[in-house]
Amino acid sequence: MTYIVALTGGIGSGKTTVSNGFKKIGINVIDSDIIAKKIIKYDDRISFSIKKKFGEKIFNIDKSINLPLLRKYIFNNREYRLWLENLLHPKIHKETINHIKLIKSSWCIWVVPLLVEKKLEKHANRILLIDTPVKNQIQRIIKRDQINFEEASKIITLQATREKRISISDDIIYNKKEIKKIDLYVHYFNIFYSFLAKEHQKKKIKNMKKNYLTKFY
Ligand code: ATP
Repeated sequence: MTYIVALTGGIGSGKTTVSNGFKKIGINVIDSDIIAKKIIKYDDRISFSIKKKFGEKIFNIDKSINLPLLRKYIFNNREYRLWLENLLHPKIHKETINHIKLIKSSWCIWVVPLLVEKKLEKHANRILLIDTPVKNQIQRIIKRDQINFEEASKIITLQATREKRISISDDIIYNKKEIKKIDLYVHYFNIFYSFLAKEHQKKKIKNMKKNYLTKFY
């Protein structure tokens, strides 16, 4: 079984930016968000349930689900959010396991935004956190998603706190400014995780967690 490095962080922290860096150097990346979007798009039973819950207005003209509208609903209503998470989570989990089973390389990245919220830590061998100050997260998602300050702040208050994420992580990339440095961190972690995966396979390191903690601040 491949060695699994969970990559997590709050909204807009830079998970995709970092995971793209890993992809670029040939690392296998399994992304829960991409899996979720595919399930919403292609799983008829899921789109039927979503239609039943929100009505025809949730569809675009081409009958695909209007994702920005769905996002708006779930971030404004806790019941809707939990309902959707419970609907998707078992399928995402099953798909993720299927993807991971197919991986032949010694280690992989598993991008999992809700690692803390859904208590998924036990499924990872190691946890890499992309940590960003809330102020920067807000600025980035306002720009990227064209939402206002209140909407952006609200989404962040619904997520786990930075402190909670930091407390469960093994390695941390502090992604405040210097986006150019990401490639450097990615190269470092490639070497580091290749080493850990090898040691893990040889069972040299029993408890991998909290050994060799790395922080890039
Ligand atoms: P989400 O949780 O919404 O999927 P994410 O954690 O994957 O977000 P990204 O999509 O990687 O975050 O980044 C969010 C936005 O911030 C993107 O537009 C990205 O280009 C930008 N960004 C990422 N890192 C930095 C940085 N260090 N400096 C400036 N902008 C950045």
